[in-house]
This record gives sequence, C-alpha cells and structure tokens, in this order.
Amino acid sequence: MEQSFDPGNSSLSENIDEPPDQPPSLAKHITFFPTAIDRFPAPSNTHRFRLLHFPFIADKDWNDWHWQLKNRITTLGQLEKILNLTKDEVHAVANLRLPLSITPYYASLLHPDDPTQSLRRSVVPISRELAISPGESADPLHEEDDSPAPGLVHRYPDRVLFLVTNFCSTNCRYCTRSRIVGKRSRCGLGMEQWEKAIAYIEQNPQIRDVLLSGGDPLTLPDTRLEWLLTRLRSIPHVEVIRIGTKIPMVLPQRITKALVNMLKRFHPLWLSIHCTHPSELTEEAVAACSRLANAGIPLGSQTVLLAGINDEAAVMTKLMQGLMRARVKPYYLYQCDPIVGSAHFRTSVKKGLEIYEALRGHTSGYAVPNYVIDAPGGGGKIPLLPETVVAMGGGEVLLKNYQGKIFSYPDTSAMDAEPCLRVLGAVA
Ligand code: SF4
Repeated sequence: MEQSFDPGNSSLSENIDEPPDQPPSLAKHITFFPTAIDRFPAPSNTHRFRLLHFPFIADKDWNDWHWQLKNRITTLGQLEKILNLTKDEVHAVANLRLPLSITPYYASLLHPDDPTQSLRRSVVPISRELAISPGESADPLHEEDDSPAPGLVHRYPDRVLFLVTNFCSTNCRYCTRSRIVGKRSRCGLGMEQWEKAIAYIEQNPQIRDVLLSGGDPLTLPDTRLEWLLTRLRSIPHVEVIRIGTKIPMVLPQRITKALVNMLKRFHPLWLSIHCTHPSELTEEAVAACSRLANAGIPLGSQTVLLAGINDEAAVMTKLMQGLMRARVKPYYLYQCDPIVGSAHFRTSVKKGLEIYEALRGHTSGYAVPNYVIDAPGGGGKIPLLPETVVAMGGGEVLLKNYQGKIFSYPDTSAMDAEPCLRVLGAVA
C-alpha cells in the first residue's frame, strides 16, 4: 500500500521562499530571478508545462515544496494527462511493484512524446520492470541481515546506515530500496523505531559516522529532521552525519533557506546527492546545490549507471562536469543493483569500465567518481578499476596510462629478481 503523505501536518509549516507572482503571458521572459540564492530560477520548459497543466497555479504554490508533494503524479489517470503513454507504459503502470510518484516539477522535465527520453525512463515504468531475471532479489545487498535495530544497517565497523523514512517525492524505477519505498508495511519508521536505532548508536561507541537515508530524509518536515539531528549530535562518538538525498534534483523547492539554516547548525554534515543525467542539472537544481554549498555543506554525488539512460561516455562526462560546476564532487558511480525487475537497467561491467576509462585522464580527477559494485550478499562496496599496474618486479612497476601507453616507475619495494620487461612482453 502506498504511504500517504500528510500535507495537513502542522509541523510542516515553514517559510517558503516565494518568487513574486507573474502573469502567464510574461512566463516565457522569466528565465532568471534576480539572485539564484533567494529565488528559484525557472527554465522555459517548466513554464510551458505549467501553462499546459497547472495554468492557475501561482508561483508561490509551484515553489512551495508542500504543494509539490501534495500534487505528485501517482496514478495512471494523472500520468496520461501529461504524457502520451505507450501501451507498454500503460500496462506497466497498471501492474506496479514500486508505486508511481513524480513531483510536478520533475514531470515538467519529462518529454511528453518520447518514451526513450532518459529522465522519463528513470521514473515511468515499462513492462520489463515486471519480469524477474536470474540473480535478482528484493534485498540484493542483504541489508536486512545486517540490521540490529529497525531501519538501521550496521555493515562497516565505524558507520551505520539509518533508513529514517520510506517516503520519496519521486520514485526511481531502479531503486535499490524498492522493497520499502512507498510501502507502509516495511521498516515502519515512527518515533519508537527511531528511538531504538538511536539507542543502538549510543551503545556502540565505534560508530563515528551516521548516514541518514531511506526513502529520502529531506522529505521529512524540518522539525522532525531537526529533532533527529539534535539527538545524533548529542552522541559524543558520532563525529560525522551524512544525508543521502535526491531532493535537489527532483524537488529543489525543498531546499529552503529555513532548511539550510537549520542543517548548517549540525556540522560536520555532508550531503550525498543522487543524480542520474545532465538534464537534471536545471537552473533550479543548481540553485538548490548552491544554497547548500554556501551553507558550508560538502556535497558529493551518487550516480547509478543505467542502460539507455546514462551509459554513454559523453553523457557521463557531461553529468560529472556539470556536477563540478554545481560544486558537487562526483563521489560514486554505482553498478545498478540486481533488484527485482532491473535487468533492463543494468549495463555490463565491461561497459562501465569503458565509461570510467573515458573519464579518467580525459577530465579533471575531481570529476571522476569511484566506480563500484555494492556486492550482492552484503559484501559492501568494491571499487572497479581498469588494469593500471601491468607488472612489477626487478625494482620497477610498469603502469598503463589513460591512453594505454606503458610507463615505468622505480619501485623500491618491488626488488624481485625477475626483470619487469619480460612480464611486459607477456601483456603487450
Ligand atoms: S531517491 Fe533513492 S530511495 Fe528514493 S526512489 Fe530514488 S533511488 Fe530509491
């Protein structure tokens, strides 16, 4: 059953930054507000979408994240009004495992007529999602096996993953946590469960790093988030708090000044932003990242490698360079987890390595993320690297650069008798 969002919750009320109302006839002229820091700019495709589908919605409502959540597209009928759906998409939406959820803002970025458009593919299901392929499972990372308390995953010695909500504003069709996202029955994450998870963190002094995830933690009201951060900050051995979120890409209106002012009280606080494609880096999304960065919050990115969406070197390069411009450090490039119904999203590792190779050396090192597989069965993240150490021995290491050329490094720890050049001959 889909979890219902409670827009009537009074704790949600806060000051939303509201750009001035503008008559629709002026819409096409409004591409930037005076300061990106205080106003969310609105690109022309979003204006067009609004004129077509929400013509009477004032800017103050469109830029209110509560309004965006209240007006999410969650049904076939709503989706049919904004997109020309294929029969296959209609069939898939009628037989969903993971609920449909798209904010009006993100819907404005979808191509109404092209079912192959990258952003549309990432949030609108197709029937291949309903097929189960070998090796797929609902919890491929075995998170529930490493869960000492509700919503808590303790896999690595010094850090825990804390799933604080199972709600997302926009549901990605390839979601690793599709077993819980949008489902009321899994890992019920009320205050009672939070208290148990916090008690576990308090009792385990080796935990110095807490990653809040879900679902999307930034869909929580400010007051709940503040309560949680205050509790975690009061634990002496918790040095770092991180938040994993897709909000700046799917609901940038949520990054209000009030939110940012609250978050910056809890440094060191880091944010990992889930982004998929350069088309997500709209003026609004970049403005949201800018607000966070200006508050001193270090920003990293997490990108899932997705077939037909971003599995081209040119697309990935554009995304990583765009993130750098938005002051987001590319952090992880994930091989897609084998969740149920994900075969059509998964690329070969060979292709992933080729894309990684195309980034390495061809753009600044800061723009190259770590390419990893989160090992099925709970093995944790394992980096994937192209072969760069070709051979070692005889006092030298032979290395292959990004152009495939071989170079020698004099290595004092590799004093084997065998000369290296023989090994080079074997690999040439
Ligand atoms: S934002 Fe993350 S948790 Fe939410 S649906 Fe997308 S992948 Fe899943």
